[in-house]
Amino acid sequence: MSKRDYYEVLGVDRSASPDEIKKAYRSLARQLHPDVNKDDHAAEEKFKEVQEAYEVLSDQNKRANYDRFGHQDPTQGGFGGQGGFGADFGGFGDIFDMFFGGGMGGGRQRGPQRGADLEYTLAIDFKDAAFGLTKEVEIPRTETCDTCSGSGAKPGTKVETCSVCKGSGVQEFVTNTPLGRMVNRRTCSTCQGTGKRIATPCSTCRGAGTVRRRRKIEVKVPPGVDTGNRLRINGAGEAGERGAPSGDLFIVLRVNKHDFFRREGTEVYCDVPISFVQAALGDELTVPTLYGRENLRIPEGTQTGAVFHLRGKGIPKLGNGVAKGDQHVRVVVQTPTKLTDRQKEMLREFSKDLGEESHEASKSFFDRMKSAFRGE
Ligand SMILES: [Zn+2]
Ligand SMILES: [Zn+2]
Repeated sequence: MSKRDYYEVLGVDRSASPDEIKKAYRSLARQLHPDVNKDDHAAEEKFKEVQEAYEVLSDQNKRANYDRFGHQDPTQGGFGGQGGFGADFGGFGDIFDMFFGGGMGGGRQRGPQRGADLEYTLAIDFKDAAFGLTKEVEIPRTETCDTCSGSGAKPGTKVETCSVCKGSGVQEFVTNTPLGRMVNRRTCSTCQGTGKRIATPCSTCRGAGTVRRRRKIEVKVPPGVDTGNRLRINGAGEAGERGAPSGDLFIVLRVNKHDFFRREGTEVYCDVPISFVQAALGDELTVPTLYGRENLRIPEGTQTGAVFHLRGKGIPKLGNGVAKGDQHVRVVVQTPTKLTDRQKEMLREFSKDLGEESHEASKSFFDRMKSAFRGE
């Protein structure tokens, strides 16, 4: 279906004067007007065609373009024709709109953005990780401006509609191609998609609607947390744009090392030095735990590296509150280094007295070690 030539539609010569065009249009319009031709579909179509032709040929610029390019004027989004103009490629136009406009993600009106999430690393002590704590942290973040309540306009002044995009927040760029109209929509560069223009910016935030601030936030760390655990504080992140929700604040925990305790999950480990006399004769030790001192009985003949368990003296299970891990105590026999001459003499005596018995024990030990070296 091809479009009729506008001059032909109006029945005028290509060199017709504006007056001749107007006269031709009026006479045709009177003939074809829908009020005169009720329910005459063909007349209605013709009437539209005449209107369209007149709209172009009565405008000096549009007429000049039409004379140069015909129906496919690349400089215009159609000849100002909103009214179903260009039936032969209007259909394509829609498809192009879809592909090159919104479909490409290239410029729907941008709604107010939710605020960004923030992350803050909080170092806590070993015991605080076990038992929890409440701590105040200071977070630098963007907050809604109190002065203008986030509007960006000085209180008492008006926020106007952006004149470039007429408040839509979107600018359209129309190109006519042989296949149809290509419409590109982009976020309005004048108002950044807000659709608004602030005439008198708020002096506190200079029109941004948000301000940077260091905010003290109370963080409740539950018992049993470990390094890498994240606590989410809803809505404590960056402020959203123009009333949109704030982001969240994530507190990432790092548990400081302890001088004495080590930890794996809920289990606590520690090394306790004992003398070789304690190891040989057995003893009652006093061992530090997270819950205070505990007595630990070690039997006589305890070897270095032996591990003893204190039930329920570990870390509380996160989110449980009742279950706890154990504390595992490894005893490490200390070899004396500064012996007096008398003590050395006594040890030689002792060794002699031990005689074959100890010799046999160490002989078998060294035999086993030799086997290990040979890979047997
Ligand atoms: Zn403000
Ligand atoms: Zn705009």
